[in-house]
Amino acid sequence: MPLATVEGAIAALGWIAFTFIAHVLIPGIEKEGVVLPDGSRLMYKLNGFRVFVATVVVGVFGTSMGWLDLASVHDNFLSMLTAMVVFAYALSAYLYASSFGRGKMLAKGGDTGNAIYDFFIGRELNPRILAGAFDLKVFCELTPGLIGWLLLDLGFAAKQYAVSGSVSAPMILVCAFQGAYVIDALWNEPAILTTMDITTDGFGFMLAFGDLVWVPFTYSLQCRYILENSVQLSNAHLIAILMVQCVGYWIFRGSNSQKNLFRTNPNDPKVRHLKTLQTKRGTKLIVSGWWGVCRHVNYLGDWIMAWAWCLPCGFSHLVPYFYVIYFGILLVHRDGRDGEACEQKYGEDWKRYCAIVKYRLIPFIY
Ligand code: NDP
Repeated sequence: MPLATVEGAIAALGWIAFTFIAHVLIPGIEKEGVVLPDGSRLMYKLNGFRVFVATVVVGVFGTSMGWLDLASVHDNFLSMLTAMVVFAYALSAYLYASSFGRGKMLAKGGDTGNAIYDFFIGRELNPRILAGAFDLKVFCELTPGLIGWLLLDLGFAAKQYAVSGSVSAPMILVCAFQGAYVIDALWNEPAILTTMDITTDGFGFMLAFGDLVWVPFTYSLQCRYILENSVQLSNAHLIAILMVQCVGYWIFRGSNSQKNLFRTNPNDPKVRHLKTLQTKRGTKLIVSGWWGVCRHVNYLGDWIMAWAWCLPCGFSHLVPYFYVIYFGILLVHRDGRDGEACEQKYGEDWKRYCAIVKYRLIPFIY
């Protein structure tokens, strides 16, 4: 595969341009973000799901007219990756430079004075363009990277169909599971406003590269592996994987929705009954329901789903298990980071909370 081609660059940068224009033009819901360190709150335009629908409509139309060929993503994979890497570096350079503008709110951890570290971790908390109407971090978190990941998956499935005349059951499973994850994230878009990436982390290379390059190009590895290696699995194996996915999704969605609902409307009948710990900071921490099981039960559900995305690749190679191994490490590290942030936020109350909810990620084990 060539490292860089004009087609690859057009496909990758054209995709960024399409999602950018769609985000600007398509109306969205307006949601208020969490309270910022200076006491203010930002408004966010959320239309990720609608951009996804627009992508489907344009994709179907473009394919039927012969203008688009999803199966070509396999041949252009490396050159699209190169173009996205270059774009992520350029965006990060812009983010770093613009964070020195007057009146910018900086992320706590991104203002160390060490240029390389700050460039990597992200200086500015909520960089915006178009007179403050376009939030770069929320846009990159959800739209080009997540939908792009699904398009790569579908491109590999389309290539398999073009080459063999059918799409294998393992390919269908991975596309369905990851597609459901992406659509779920877009459908529950407001929940992103209370996540660590948005509330705490600055927007720099780590998130720009992560959102635009790392997520789509490495999370689609399993579909690429299934395309390039013929994988056959028994029905029993496929059903077992489906069950793993359902359990993971149940924990992941149940816990994330419970916390999000509790943080946005604690009097909602679905969360009113939960036991809580009142903190001096003013907010409450849930200590029963999903959040009484362990401190990051949502990560556990996500990791169980990660297994269901790798198991369809069979057992002949370790490479397709890259995601579940990498993601396990990410979640342990992220749990540590969030624990430190919560200790700073809540002080002694966090210690009281940890004494009640003892386990971090896996009940009775870790
Ligand atoms: P969380 O959604 O778990 O948010 C952590 C925050 O939740 C804490 O800082 C705290 O903030 C609040 N909180 C913690 N415990 C409680 C409690 N008991 N009661 C009420 N509030 C509590 O973390 P993330 O933003 O890291 O993750 C969100 C989702 O995204 C997860 O499901 C994760 O698996 C997924 N994810 C996926 C990635 C991927 O690459 N696929 C990468 C990263 C995340 P406060 O008290 O201030 O509200």
